[in-house]
Amino acid sequence: MKVLLVNPDNADQAGFSFPPLNLIYLAGSILNEHEVQLVDGYLLGREGIKKAVTEFRPEIVGITNYTLGHHAVLEIADWIKKFSPQIKIVLGGAHPTIMWKQILENYPQIDVCVIGEGEYTFREFCNGTPVEKLAGIAWRKDNTVVRNPARTYQHHLDHIPFPAWHLLNLKNYPAKGEGVFNGIDLSKEPRVSVVFSRGCTASCDFCSTWWIWKGHRARSAINMANELELLNTKYAAKHFWMADDDFSGDIQAAKELCREIIRRNIKIAWYATTRVDHVDLELLELMKKAGCYEISFGVESGSQKILDLIGKNTTVEQAKLSILNAKKIGLRITALLIVGARGETKDTVNETIDFLNTIRPDGVGAVGGLWILPGTSLYQRAKRERIIDDTYWLRDRPVPIYYGEHTKERIEQFLYAVHSRRKLGTVNFFIGFYVLNRLKNLVKKSTFMSELYRKRLRPLLTA
Ligand code: SF4
Repeated sequence: MKVLLVNPDNADQAGFSFPPLNLIYLAGSILNEHEVQLVDGYLLGREGIKKAVTEFRPEIVGITNYTLGHHAVLEIADWIKKFSPQIKIVLGGAHPTIMWKQILENYPQIDVCVIGEGEYTFREFCNGTPVEKLAGIAWRKDNTVVRNPARTYQHHLDHIPFPAWHLLNLKNYPAKGEGVFNGIDLSKEPRVSVVFSRGCTASCDFCSTWWIWKGHRARSAINMANELELLNTKYAAKHFWMADDDFSGDIQAAKELCREIIRRNIKIAWYATTRVDHVDLELLELMKKAGCYEISFGVESGSQKILDLIGKNTTVEQAKLSILNAKKIGLRITALLIVGARGETKDTVNETIDFLNTIRPDGVGAVGGLWILPGTSLYQRAKRERIIDDTYWLRDRPVPIYYGEHTKERIEQFLYAVHSRRKLGTVNFFIGFYVLNRLKNLVKKSTFMSELYRKRLRPLLTA
């Protein structure tokens, strides 16, 4: 079979994109039996995708599909189906895993939705297993949508073949980072995403990871180190992002991986995201020695009340201890925060500011309000509160934000307070916020002021 894998042309985040790891995993699982090509719309745009279809003339097209940018996927599929109705179009990813019924009921250009982990399901589909017998998909029989039995996830991730790295030119992907680590200039080396594990042990109410992956599985240290070594020696990759949702969900496995990287003396620089309760001092030291230069911790809030309300299942004290330990060892820290969750008040925001003043992270990634994404507990609540229903996704609209009991303006105040570390209710805050808003109004009216604000004033006000 001729199989084309498509990364949509809007898959970037604010202009930046990692190599499409999910698609090269799929490619790796079918390479031996099929003729496979990959087109990355991030690099080549919509026209590049069309060109790949017209020149390669695939029999099957697999498209990765996140909720964000979902309609671009439908447009691409529609164009392909019109170009050649015989081409089978298969969607995979978070959105079809959850919204398969709506997709198949409303978009005839889509033939099959893969639900959950895709490698084995997609491989069997390409190998010709009849759809009636294929576990882990939804499809259309006449005009009725059929969901087949779920597929059991691959327990041993080592059994999943390596991604087909040779289908990508890593040099085409942007570098992102600051400083030099392990002799590697982070600002010049493309960031290559790899994964050591899939899933997460927690079940935060705004996140669908736990729902999609149903638990946490890690690869063996040997298997992961083999891939890193291959990328380092054969593809000259030096700078990595461990794109796991919870890199050290299995702390012992993460330690073994670090020991293996150290033992083999693989000279790389990498960063990872994890939970504050999934590191200890020994792991942090091993990570640093193995080339980790930064950890993003999903802290979410400096208020225990908010952590409990969002189901984070961590404590503020755990966050403080882990972050201060990591800093002591010399790791850079980014604290990922949610500001304006349900139950947020002036006091809880001020607790978060106190927390930030204690831990003094190198970076703060704060979002105001929560994205309402299918597959989350928050989505169910938003439906009960009649903020959203499933028909929302039938139109091309941005992912909605859950403001809970707050107004948008109040969330902006919360965010400003956290970014500027000016406590709510203080004179400092009022002056800063007042000046900021006056400036914003001026900026709207003047290009010169816009530049001045962006380059000079905003950093001062939010420092
Ligand atoms: S810890 Fe992170 S990945 Fe896990 S459920 Fe919570 S937000 Fe999602």
